[in-house]
Order: sequence, then structure tokens, then C-alpha cells
Amino acid sequence: MTSPTAIDRRSMTPGPAKWLGVMVGILALTAGSLAPISAAYAQDAPVSLIRDTEIEAILHEDADPVFRAAGLDPKAVTIHLVGDKDMNAFVAGGQHLFLNTGLIVRTKTPNELIGVIAHETGHMAGGHIIRQADGEKQALATYLLTMGLGLIAAAAGSPEAAAGLMYSSGYFAALTAAGFTRTQEASADQAAVTYLEKAGISSRGLVDFFDNFRYEEVFSEAKRYKFFIDHPLTSERIEGLRVRASQQAHFDMVDSPAAIARHKIMVAKLMAFMNMPQQTYNDFPESDTSYPARYARAIAYYRDLQTEKALRLTDALLAEQPDNPYLWELKGQTLFEVGRPADAEPAHRRSVELNPDAPLLRMNLGQALLAEDNPQKLDEAVLQIHRSLSIEPDNPYGWLLLSQAYDRKGQAGMARLAAAEQNFALGQASEAKIFAMRARSLLAKNSPEWRRATDIVLVSNPNPNDLRALAGEGSVDQPVKRK
Ligand SMILES: [Zn+2]
Repeated sequence: MTSPTAIDRRSMTPGPAKWLGVMVGILALTAGSLAPISAAYAQDAPVSLIRDTEIEAILHEDADPVFRAAGLDPKAVTIHLVGDKDMNAFVAGGQHLFLNTGLIVRTKTPNELIGVIAHETGHMAGGHIIRQADGEKQALATYLLTMGLGLIAAAAGSPEAAAGLMYSSGYFAALTAAGFTRTQEASADQAAVTYLEKAGISSRGLVDFFDNFRYEEVFSEAKRYKFFIDHPLTSERIEGLRVRASQQAHFDMVDSPAAIARHKIMVAKLMAFMNMPQQTYNDFPESDTSYPARYARAIAYYRDLQTEKALRLTDALLAEQPDNPYLWELKGQTLFEVGRPADAEPAHRRSVELNPDAPLLRMNLGQALLAEDNPQKLDEAVLQIHRSLSIEPDNPYGWLLLSQAYDRKGQAGMARLAAAEQNFALGQASEAKIFAMRARSLLAKNSPEWRRATDIVLVSNPNPNDLRALAGEGSVDQPVKRK
């Protein structure tokens, strides 16, 4: 996650990707934390930012042409997936685009979703920063912890594991409470059409999306989606948008079959992860033999702990698509979460071979290797988690694994340093500072790790006592020589 915090951390030297030595980790969420998953679906279910390599890839494939048309560097824009059934999309903290799963599953075509993304990009590129308590909200956005889709169920059943992982819906609502002015809305609509046209994409989807929900709103007072409270729809607004959109050369362009297929996979996957398994069996009945339907059912069986059914379905899909890294990931996840890490390992390993640049796939593999509790697997586990964190140093879950790993190895200094990193990635400065001070007292003075711990103290609001301790070098923190 790029964020002001992340930028600070990257400007520190040496960078985390360079300073880390060999890393050891251990599994945090074992099968023991699998618990009744219904808690995740309560009325006021907590929501979380969620991570999924496949969905992130699809969203970027959809959105990147629009970002480029807006003059933004797609790599600099972070797309956050908010696990919330309410329909919403918003921008915060500069180039952070938040998309609720509830919005994505309500888009009928890739073109509708791309249209909404283009509208939000209009706010982003136009600098329509949220008006109220702006700085505070941007800071909040940097504190969000993200988690893999597969972890939601496990964390929901284990309040301790979930502490710090889940947020109330209100938390996200606060990020967008102020909304935009009518002028900003109109300008974002116009910008959206401009970007879409420049990217060679029809803006019809945006008009259709607004139109569909305008219709729903008119006929049902109950349907007040957050998105349209912040982005009020009026007939004039939609008409203005339609007139301009229909004048564009690419208005009649349609989605490619590949884009449609990707969108169906994404929607099916999100529905299967966000809804109760029974709902998924209804939404995607056995009679539906399409790939997205079978994929959704495999996910539902896995979440329903019907492991053998899930594996049969996933293996059948793999027979058709042996080089699909996300099917291997699902197989690994299915096995891992019922306490079979040694069986999960080869599946996760295959997903990494097929998509070596994806940090989350490597973390799955590292986590499985560690959970095997086999000393011979430890070094590779360390390596995989280390490589994952070198690609994505702001992932608190990776640091959590590492801190536990070092404790197991008896390397208390490295464990405290990893805990400092974890808290730092979460924006929890005071906790980060406490762990970093502890780490300094345990690590060899002037080692790269000791210097890194010092850097974390310095950027975590040190008080005069902390600074005196740093200045005294060794008077407070007597480092233990390890060499
Ligand atoms: Zn808007």
C-alpha cells in the first residue's frame, strides 16, 4: 500500500528491501483459528480491506488505460478492495482508489465498472480532495490493514486474530463523509468521458450504471446506496452525461470477450467469498457449468469446510487450466486452512512458479512451509516470506509472520524489529517505537538491523527521553554483540 507512511519508510536508508537479512517466519493463523464463519455475516459485519492477487490483476487491467489517459502513472495508483456489501467507491489520500466489493458485483459489464473507475479518476486527477477534516481522513487511509480474501473467515471466528484486522463500516464511511460538490460531480463526469474516449473505451457503461440506480432510487426509497448519497444523481446530471457520451467516437465500442470473461470471474469470486456458502449454491447452481459458476462453487465448498468436494471441483478446473496460478492458490488455501500445510505446499509452490512476481502467492507458500514445522523447510520459508516483503514491504501480515518466526528461533531482537515493522506498516507509531527501542537494546550495535530500528524510532514521534537514549548510544540500550 503506498501511503504517506509508506513514502517515509521508503525514503529511509537503507530501505527495508535491502536491510533485511535472512528471514524466518512461522504461521500465524493455523487451522486452529478456523472457527464458525457466521460472525463475518452479522448485520453489522465488520468490513476490511481485502487482498486478492487475481482480482487486483483484473482491476488493473480494467483501470490502467483510464489512469494513463488521465495522465496518472498506473503504478502510483493503489486500488483498494473494501469488503463491504454496500455499494460505494471513493478516492482518498491522493492516489488511492477504494472500490467496495458491493459495487463491483453490481456492475453488469466491465464497461460499467470502468466507467465508475473513470468517474473516480476524475475526482483524483481533478484534485477534488474530500473537504472536511481532510488531513485526518488521509491519515486514516494510511492505517488500513489489508488481508487476503481467504483470511476473512478465519479472522472473523477468532477475535484475537482479528484485532486490528477488521474495521467497522463506519470507519470507511468516515473517509467519505463529506462527499463532493455538485460542480465537482459534473466535472468528474465530464473528465470520465474524456479519459474513456482517449483510452478508446465507450462511456456508455457509466451512463447505464447511473441510469439503473437512478431508476431504483426513484422507485424505492429504501435503496439509498452510500455511493449515490455522495454522488447525488439527478435527471439533469445523467442527461448531461448521456448527451456528451453519445457524441464520442467510441460510444458504440463494446467490451472484448476476454474483458467480459474476466469480469464474470471477478464477480463470481467476490460473491463466493463475501456471501454465505448456501447463498453461493443458490446463485451458482449445479446446472450452471460455466467456469465462473464452478469456480464460485469450489470456493463455497472450501469455505463451508466441505474440503473433499472443494478439492474435486478445483482439480477438475485445474485439469482444464493447469497453468492458472489462482486455481493452484485456491487448492493450497483449501488444504492449508484444514490443517494440511504439507499438502498445501506443492499447490502454493506451483502458483508461485506461474506468477513469480506476486507477493501474496509467495507469502502463502512461506506460510505453508512454516506451518509444516519441519526444520528442513525453515530456510526456504524464510526466503519466500522475505522475497514477498521485498516486493511489498508494507504488508503487516508478513511482518507478523516474521516476528513470530524469530521468536521461535530465539532471536528476540529480530522478532521485536519485525513487530516494530508490523506496527509501523499499520501506522501505529507509539507501538512501533516501543518495539523498535526493544529491538535496539537486543541487536548488535551498528548492524543494519539496529540502524533500521533506530530509523523507525526517529520517524515514530520520539519524545525527548527517546532522543536522549538514542544520543547516548549504548548508555540506555546496551547492544548484544552477536558476531
Ligand atoms: Zn463522484
